[in-house]
Amino acid sequence: MYPPKFGYVIPDTIDEAVSFLKEHEDAKPLAGGHSLIPMLKLRIIRPSYLVEIRRLKELQYVRKEGGYYQIGALTTHYDVVKAGIPLLSDTAARIADPQVRNVGTIGGSVAHSDPAADYQAALIVMDSSVVVYGPKGSRTVNFADFVKDVFTPDLKQGELITEIKVRDFSGYRWAYKKLERKAGDFAIVGVAVLAKKDGDKVTDLRIGLTAVSNKGVRAMEAEKVLIDRTPTEDLIERAAETVMKSIEPPSDLRASSEYRKRAAKVLTRRALTELLR
Ligand SMILES: Cc1cc2nc3c(=O)[nH]c(=O)nc-3n(C[C@H](O)[C@H](O)[C@H](O)COP(=O)(O)OP(=O)(O)OC[C@H]3O[C@@H](n4cnc5c(N)ncnc54)[C@H](O)[C@@H]3O)c2cc1C
Repeated sequence: MYPPKFGYVIPDTIDEAVSFLKEHEDAKPLAGGHSLIPMLKLRIIRPSYLVEIRRLKELQYVRKEGGYYQIGALTTHYDVVKAGIPLLSDTAARIADPQVRNVGTIGGSVAHSDPAADYQAALIVMDSSVVVYGPKGSRTVNFADFVKDVFTPDLKQGELITEIKVRDFSGYRWAYKKLERKAGDFAIVGVAVLAKKDGDKVTDLRIGLTAVSNKGVRAMEAEKVLIDRTPTEDLIERAAETVMKSIEPPSDLRASSEYRKRAAKVLTRRALTELLR
């Protein structure tokens, strides 16, 4: 289907983009367009203007400072892969296919807040925050609070995501396990795990899931099963079982709720076995 008619604006600066968006209530920022254009074509949204931000160079960077990575909102998934960020780069590598990864951006994915987006699993366990810039200046929101519901980010008209911040988890081991119907598809379930050991003991463990709720979920009860313990096959099984019992995933065209629960258990067990045994 063709999209409805819209105006197209190419601002030179972030401030120009923000002020145009503020003045035009149903204008939408356009980053990679890999979620926005399909929504336009399906006529789910009918913006008056698209404001092309994707060429704003000042939002394309990855820096490391004070134990955190700062990632400009317009950094493509491919550039996130190349940055070698513990867990996040491996997660970005599992998004869709090379075409989507070359054009889609981390800021666009976070703003879109798709409950099945791959980043949701990693960002929920990485002490992440989202920097938002708007007519009233800049504010920083914890990632866990930023996604309010399905496709509902904490963004007001005129506000742009400028940066995603994640803690540097060097010294941890990590894995992102994704079950998909076919290569390049969205996750049926995705499980991101960060683990730290001291000798035989697990000193820190973080388990995040995508596609099992209205937003990314952190499985804290399951983490507690292994923290301060020496991992055994039994404990790993118990942790995976706890993940399964702690979620109530939706049923949709990709999978039933029951199938997702079981898949979450299997993927968690696989990730924990790989990282801890
Ligand atoms: C075929 C296909 C397969 C895909 N498979 C996967 C997958 O397996 N896993 C996955 O996670 N994703 C997948 N995606 C989605 C992809 O990752 C998108 O790139 C991403 O969701 C949106 O990023 P974008 O830069 O394209 O944003 P856009 O499509 O340009 O924008 C998305 C939304 O965010 C808003 N927006 C964009 N940037 C900003 C900003 N800086 N500040 C405020 N609002 C902003 C836009 O107005 C729009 O509402 C797939 C997409 C396609 C087309």
